[in-house]
Amino acid sequence: APAAAAAADGDKAVQIGIEAKKEDDTPRWYQQVLTRSEMLDYYDVSGCYILRPWAYGIWQEIQGFFDGLIRESGVENCYFPMFVSGKALEREKDHVEGFAPEVAWVTKAGSSDLAEPIAIRPTSETVMYPAYAKWIQSHRDLPLRLNQWCNVVRWEFKHPQPFLRTREFLWQEGHTAFLTQPEADAEVLEILGYYRRVYEDLLAVPVIPGRKSEKEKFAGGLYTTTVEAFVPVTGRGIQGATSHCLGQNFAKMFNIVVEGANKEQQHVWQNSWGLTTRTIGVMVMVHGDNKGLVLPPRVAAQQVVVVPCGITVKTTQEQRAAIAEYTNQVVATLKKAGIRAKADARDNYSPGYKFNHWEMRGVPVRIEVGPKDMAKNQADMLAKATKERDEHLKVIEDWNEGAGFTALLDAKNLVMAPWCTEPACEDQVKDRSARAKVEETGEPADDKAPSMGAKSLCIPFNQPREIKEGKMCFQGCGRKAVAYGLFGRSY
Ligand code: AMP
Repeated sequence: APAAAAAADGDKAVQIGIEAKKEDDTPRWYQQVLTRSEMLDYYDVSGCYILRPWAYGIWQEIQGFFDGLIRESGVENCYFPMFVSGKALEREKDHVEGFAPEVAWVTKAGSSDLAEPIAIRPTSETVMYPAYAKWIQSHRDLPLRLNQWCNVVRWEFKHPQPFLRTREFLWQEGHTAFLTQPEADAEVLEILGYYRRVYEDLLAVPVIPGRKSEKEKFAGGLYTTTVEAFVPVTGRGIQGATSHCLGQNFAKMFNIVVEGANKEQQHVWQNSWGLTTRTIGVMVMVHGDNKGLVLPPRVAAQQVVVVPCGITVKTTQEQRAAIAEYTNQVVATLKKAGIRAKADARDNYSPGYKFNHWEMRGVPVRIEVGPKDMAKNQADMLAKATKERDEHLKVIEDWNEGAGFTALLDAKNLVMAPWCTEPACEDQVKDRSARAKVEETGEPADDKAPSMGAKSLCIPFNQPREIKEGKMCFQGCGRKAVAYGLFGRSY
C-alpha cells in the first residue's frame, strides 16, 4: 500500500494512501479517494459538500469545453436570480408537482416572517420564462438561446452522495425558444451530442444516448433525451445529463407568443438542458482505483508532475542546483507546449513519497513525457471503460431468458429488452426486480440497497436489434413491444 511504502522510505509516516478497496467497500473507498486526494470536504449541512481546488479545477475544464461549444453554436450566457416567487413556481402544474417535494423555501428574514415565502430555484424554467414572455414579441426575436452557469438546490431525501446526488449542485442550464418544432428538435440532439463529448472526449467515460420513458421524462416537458453512464463496480446506471424538449407547454403557461405571418398568435417551442457536477463523481467512480484517483489527462488540473530523482546525502550543492535547474527547464518546456505541468521539488520528501502523493491525486503522468503520451493515455482510458461497460450490457428477449432479468441485474449488468414503454409496465418491472432479491435475502428494497428495483434508463437511439412485427413486451404485460429499453439499478 502507498502508505506503507511512504513509511518504509523513511519519510514521515503520514496516512496518504487509500485503505478501503474499491470492490469490497465502495462507499468508503469513494469517500477516502475524494477526501484524501483533496477534491472534497464534508460540511455540517447534510447533502452539501465543499469542492476544493483539485475538484473545482476539473469543473472549470468541463465548463471551458462545454461553454466553448455552445457559444460557437450561438448560445449566450446570462444570470438570473436564485429566488423564485411561489406564484411563478406554481404556474406549470406538472412541473411544480414534479419538483415540489424537493423545493427549499426561505420563510424568514432575521426574526420576522416573510409576507410571502420565497423558493430557491431547483431549476430555472419558472424564473426565466416570465422574462422570456416580455422579450419575445415577434419571430424576429427568435431563436432566443440563453445559458447560465449557477447553483441550484433540490432538497433530496434519497441518500446523498458527494457529486452524484447533492442538495446544492453546480450546473449549467440552457433555456431556448424557437419558432418551430423541427428547430427545437434539432437543438435537443445537438446539445445531447455535446454532453456525450464531455463524457467521452473529456472524461473518458462511455455513455449511451437515448430518450427517456414517459415515466422518467422531465416534469412538464414534451420529451427528454439523456446520456446514460455505467458504474462497473456497483453495476449501476447513472443519468449523465439531460436535454429536454419542453414543447409549447411552458409557452402556454407563461404566455410566450409571437405573431405569425398572418397576424395569428403562435406559442414558441422551448428546450432546456443541464449538466452538473455529478460528472466529476461519475469520472471518479469509473476510473478511480485502489491507489486513488485516476484523472483523464484532459481535465487534470496538473497533467504532469516532474519529480527530481537520485538525490542522496552524497549529492553536492552544485549537483542539487543543476538538477533543480534541469527540472525547471523540463516544466517550462512542457508548459510552452500547453501542458499543465509542475515540479515537485520539496526536499523534505523522497521521490517514493511524492509518487504516492501524486498517484493518489490521479495526476496522469509523472516525470517527463510529451503530449502524445497523454493523448494515448486518454484514448486508453476510454477504450478500457467502454470494454468494461460493454461486457456488462446484456440483451434479452423475455424476462426469463438466460439467467433471467433480476439475476442479470444482480450480476451487475444493465439489461436491454423489447419493451412496450408504458408507465404501468415500468412500475411492474421495478417491483418484480426488487422483490425477487428481497425474498431471498430479507433485505429491504430501499434505493441504497443493491436489491432495489430497476428502472428504465433510456430507450437507446442505437437499438441492438430491430423490433419485429408482433413482438411482445419482455415483461409479459401483454402489450406489444415498441423498442428495446435499457434497464438498470441506478443512482
Ligand atoms: P434535470 O433538470 O432534472 O433534468 O437534471 C439535470 C441533470 O442533473 C440530470 O441529468 C442529472 O445528471 C443531474 N442531477 C440531478 N439531480 C442531481 C443531484 N441531486 N446532484 C447532482 N446532479 C444531479
